[in-house]
Amino acid sequence: MNDQIEKTVDLADKYMFHTYGRFPVTLVRGEGCRVWDEEGREYLDFVGGIAVCALGHCSPLVTEALDEQSRKLVHVSNLYYTKPQTELARLLVEHSFADRVFFCNSGAEANEAAIKLARRYAKEKYGRKKNVFISMEDSFHGRTMATLSATGQARIQAGYDPLLEGFKFVPFNDIDRLNAALDESVCAVILEPIQGEGGVVCPDPDYLKLVKEACRAKEALLIFDEVQVGMGRTGRLFAHEHYGVTPDIMTLAKALGNGLPIGAMLSTEELSSAFGPGSHATTFGGTPLVTAVSKAVLKSILEDGWIDNSRVMGEYLKEKLGDLALTHNMIKEVRGLGLIVGMEMDISGAPVVDACIEKGFLINCAQEKVIRLVPPLIVGKDEIDLLVDALDEILSGL
Ligand SMILES: *Cc1c(COP(=O)(O)O)cnc(C)c1O
Repeated sequence: MNDQIEKTVDLADKYMFHTYGRFPVTLVRGEGCRVWDEEGREYLDFVGGIAVCALGHCSPLVTEALDEQSRKLVHVSNLYYTKPQTELARLLVEHSFADRVFFCNSGAEANEAAIKLARRYAKEKYGRKKNVFISMEDSFHGRTMATLSATGQARIQAGYDPLLEGFKFVPFNDIDRLNAALDESVCAVILEPIQGEGGVVCPDPDYLKLVKEACRAKEALLIFDEVQVGMGRTGRLFAHEHYGVTPDIMTLAKALGNGLPIGAMLSTEELSSAFGPGSHATTFGGTPLVTAVSKAVLKSILEDGWIDNSRVMGEYLKEKLGDLALTHNMIKEVRGLGLIVGMEMDISGAPVVDACIEKGFLINCAQEKVIRLVPPLIVGKDEIDLLVDALDEILSGL
């Protein structure tokens, strides 16, 4: 390490909260699926900002949209209309089950909006106590108090009690437990169609359909958190499309801005009346700058073949990791859909992640023993081959 690197790491550790267990690498530049550190070392990036940089780093299309809009109008209050925000909303509605969009700045904020909308809608429609949420064990919905209360992981909730009232948890993929918990007091069921932070856990083929039927039977809303798995990640624009089930509310963030901060909460027309003027708001949500970029990102995901690439490369990646599992018996399962791929092992993933960084690959763990790969949707076979070869060597050396 040269002095420069030590300096950044040391200064960061001195001046910022230690909320992240960071790797001692200072990244300064990116292009496509690659990033470079201060020393000029290159890394192939299979984290992609955690499923954020769908079009890769410094996509010319993003840079252009950013440059163009930054010269026109960066921010005005949501008291006024802007074109990029309107056009992005229209594009999202035209390509989803939804009729209306609320823009915010993050996944947590999108889920906050969803939670508030569901409660307010149930209050207006039923007038009685119907304000409980059912969420899933091992889910992740964000770090604000409400989304933390909806997050089914004790490790993440630790130390923050009292959490918000009105959140119950059932195991993912267990329809009987859901039916048992779903009573008239429930206003909504919230879940990720595929659990990301929970360790890349896919639903059983008919699970989401059964969840929707259960919701209908008890007049509960269905909220899909597609913050991580939406925007083409799974080989469809939205993950729920694989399962033939539409929600009442959907939340998006991560890849929506390819790295610019944006979240969105989408719903059907019927629900939208519960959010009138003054009922919910944000200063920054959906600024012209960010929505102009998002619109360019969404258009590219839709029109440039990246959703197909995600499906094809995802299959290829799973196949190659499946081959690895034949010779490395610490690999227990390879799973996922499109380019969200989990490799569950019977050993801790941390040493594998460290060894990968040494070799010039960024990967990460979702849960201790699950390696999660969420590269940009533009990733190619050559890049996947390089990673799998590196993993082969690393696992052989353990
Ligand atoms: C990342 C994530 C969130 C939180 O998003 P932030 O932008 O970090 O607030 C919520 N839900 C899911 C499924 C996520 O993966």
